[in-house]
Amino acid sequence: MKILLVEDEPVIAQNIVERLAGEFYRVKWVSDGNMGLQKALFETYDLIILDVLLPGTNGFSILKKLRSNRITTPVLMLTALCDIVNKVKGLDSGADDYLTKPFALDELSARVRVLLRREMNPQTSSIRIKDLNVDTSRREVSRNGEPINLTTKEFQILEFMAYNKNRALSRMTIAEHVWQENYDSMSNFVDVHIKNIRKKIDAKATCKLIKTVRGIGYMINDE
Ligand code: CA
Repeated sequence: MKILLVEDEPVIAQNIVERLAGEFYRVKWVSDGNMGLQKALFETYDLIILDVLLPGTNGFSILKKLRSNRITTPVLMLTALCDIVNKVKGLDSGADDYLTKPFALDELSARVRVLLRREMNPQTSSIRIKDLNVDTSRREVSRNGEPINLTTKEFQILEFMAYNKNRALSRMTIAEHVWQENYDSMSNFVDVHIKNIRKKIDAKATCKLIKTVRGIGYMINDE
């Protein structure tokens, strides 16, 4: 599980990083709002922990930008602004949850667990991309009603791409999510698997769903 932490107060950030790393999350910490926005836009995370008052771009603007770019990664906002106006503002911008400073690390850790669980088990178990159906709870794939047999790894890659549809994903990002470790050496495995997935889902169809994004990697597209 990869978490992006955007927080400019080093002591708070350090405490959060230590706590979450101890729970086996991989945490990327940035202290500047602009940097945080870049990371959140162009890299893939399972959760974003976002402070409100930041140098560069503030947390509300970052969140708005993400949601308007259809990045639906859950966001937990950290704020010292505990008044109701700011809570409403944050929820309107698309935050999934709130934590008011100062907070206990136990509480942070509990909120993180809830948000990640919600993200992993969304209400709808099927993701639809045009005539392709990816059933994430039954682990079944069909195109135009015809069942398609994928290997476990092929399914994991397709599922990850489907969750992130219309986003260009680097080979490294895909490999990281599917193999968890040693992904540096795995990135060419991604090409091999994508080739096989294409054979199964795209070969017979006139409309190809998996696009190669030059210089980056791959994208599954329903536009
Ligand atoms: Ca701050």
